[in-house]
Amino acid sequence: MSVVHTTNAERFDAQVPVLIVGAGAAGLCAALAAKATGADAVLIERDAVPSGSTALSAGLIPAAGTRFQRGKGIADSAELFAADIQRKANGESDPGIVQVLARGAGPLVEWLADRHGVPFDVIDNFNYSGHSALRMHGLPTRTGRELIDRLRSAAEADGIVILTGCVAERLFVASDHRIVGIEIARGDGARERIGCGALILACNGYGGNQVLVRSFIPDMADALYFGHPGNRGDAVLWGEALGAQLAYLGAYQGHGSVATPHNILVTWAVIMQGGIQINAEGRRFCDESRGYSEQAADVLRQPGGFAWDVFDERIAGIARQFEDFRNAERLGAIVSADTVEGLARAMEVPVQAFTAEWREVESLKSRARRDRFGRRFTPDQKCAAPLRGVKVTGALFHTQGGLAIDANARVKMKSGSVFSNLYAAGGAAAGVSGSGAAGYLSGNGLLTATVLGRLAGDKAGRGI
Ligand SMILES: Cc1cc2nc3c(=O)[nH]c(=O)nc-3n(C[C@H](O)[C@H](O)[C@H](O)COP(=O)(O)OP(=O)(O)OC[C@H]3O[C@@H](n4cnc5c(N)ncnc54)[C@H](O)[C@@H]3O)c2cc1C
Repeated sequence: MSVVHTTNAERFDAQVPVLIVGAGAAGLCAALAAKATGADAVLIERDAVPSGSTALSAGLIPAAGTRFQRGKGIADSAELFAADIQRKANGESDPGIVQVLARGAGPLVEWLADRHGVPFDVIDNFNYSGHSALRMHGLPTRTGRELIDRLRSAAEADGIVILTGCVAERLFVASDHRIVGIEIARGDGARERIGCGALILACNGYGGNQVLVRSFIPDMADALYFGHPGNRGDAVLWGEALGAQLAYLGAYQGHGSVATPHNILVTWAVIMQGGIQINAEGRRFCDESRGYSEQAADVLRQPGGFAWDVFDERIAGIARQFEDFRNAERLGAIVSADTVEGLARAMEVPVQAFTAEWREVESLKSRARRDRFGRRFTPDQKCAAPLRGVKVTGALFHTQGGLAIDANARVKMKSGSVFSNLYAAGGAAAGVSGSGAAGYLSGNGLLTATVLGRLAGDKAGRGI
C-alpha cells in the first residue's frame, strides 16, 4: 500500500466522480447515498462477492427514535443514545462524532427500510449491556449476510458499479492534498488507474494485519481473529503516508463468546438474560454483564483460554432467533443436562465448585442482589432445568481505531485541517469506543459503518 505524490499530470484509464474502496456496509451505504445526490459512484472490492466483516456480523444496527421503536411503544432519543455511547466509552469519544452518529442512525435505518426495502425490526425480547432503550434493529435472519446481500441488491438496482476481485493499492495525491485517483490490481494481475473527484475509504480496520494488531493491541496479538481477513489496515497505512491524523488505535471490538472449536458466535443474549460464564475450574471470574467486548481478554486469561456459557432452555429459546445459535445447536456445540451436577459432568468441570457457583447465583437472582463482582441479578433471570452449556473462547472481531474525521466524514490532517476530497467511514475511520475494548458499546461497528457511510457518500456526491 503506497501513496504517490503527483504533479496533476497523472494519466488515468477512467475518471469517476466518487470512488469508494471497500464494499462492506460502509462502502455500499456510501455508494447509495452518493447516487441519491446524482453522482455516479464506483466501488472497488477485493472479494469476488461483497462480504466483509459485515457478512460475518449479526447485522444489528442501533438507532434511536425510529418508527420501529414507536410501533412497539419504546421511548428513546438521540440524546439518550449519545449519552449511552459516551458512558460506555468512559467519556473518551469525540463528542461531535458521537452526536452525528446518534442523530443519524434513526434516519439511516428508516432510509434503508423505506428507500431500499431493507426489512428492519427492533429486537424487543432482550437488550445489550449499556443501551438504556431497546434500539437494536435487525433483519429476519439476524445475520449480516442478509444485510450485505440486501445492500448489494439495492446498489445493483440503482445501477452502481462494483468492481469485484480488485484491490486498491496506491493512492495518488496532488500537491494541494487533493486525492486525484488510485491504482487497482485485478485478480489476473492487470493494473488500472482510476481518477476520482472524491475518494471514500471504506476498507475497514487492521484486524487482518497481524503486525498492526501486535503493535497496537498486544492483548489480542495471539487471539482468534473473527473478522474478515481482507481488512489489512490499508486505510491506516495510507493515512500514515498522507500525514493524516490517526486516533484510538488501541480500541477494538472483542467478543467473549465464540463457540470453540466450532468458531460460531454465541449471542450475548445468553448472558444478558441470566446466564453466567465459568472457567475450567467451575468458577466464575468477573461481572459478565459489563459487555462482551472486554470479556474477550478475560476469557483468554482463564486456564486453557476458554470458558463455558451456562444458561437454560428459556434463554436458549430467545437465542434461537439468531441463525448462528441454531447452527451451534445443529453442530452439537451446546451440551444439556437436567441437573446442575449433570451439566458439570457434561462440561467436565469440578462438580462441587460449579454447583456452589450456580446455587449462589440462583439465590442472588431470587433476592435481586449483587454478586461479589458487582453484577446485579434479578428474579426474572432465574433458570430452570434443562440447563445448557457451550464452551467458548475470546476473539478479536474488529479494530475501532483509524482515520480521524470531521463532522462531514472528511479525513483530518495532522495539522488539524482536512483533506478536501478524502472521506472515511466504518472501520476505516476512528470509532467512538474510547481507547480499549471496554469502550465498545454493542452496535458501534455497524453504526459507524452505515451512518458515516451514508454521510460520506452524501458529502462526496455533493462535493462538500
Ligand atoms: C462476528 C462478528 C459479529 C459482529 N456483529 C455486529 C453487530 O451485530 N452489530 C454491529 O454493529 N457490528 C458488528 N460487528 C462489527 C461489524 O461487522 C463491523 O464493524 C462492520 O461490518 C464494518 O463495516 P465496514 O463496511 O467498515 O467493513 P467490512 O464490512 O469489513 O467491509 C470492508 C471491505 O473492504 C474490502 N477491502 C479492504 N481493503 C481493500 C482494498 N485495499 N481494496 C479493495 N477492497 C478492500 C474488504 O474485502 C471488505 O469487503 C461484528 C463483527 C464480527 C466479526
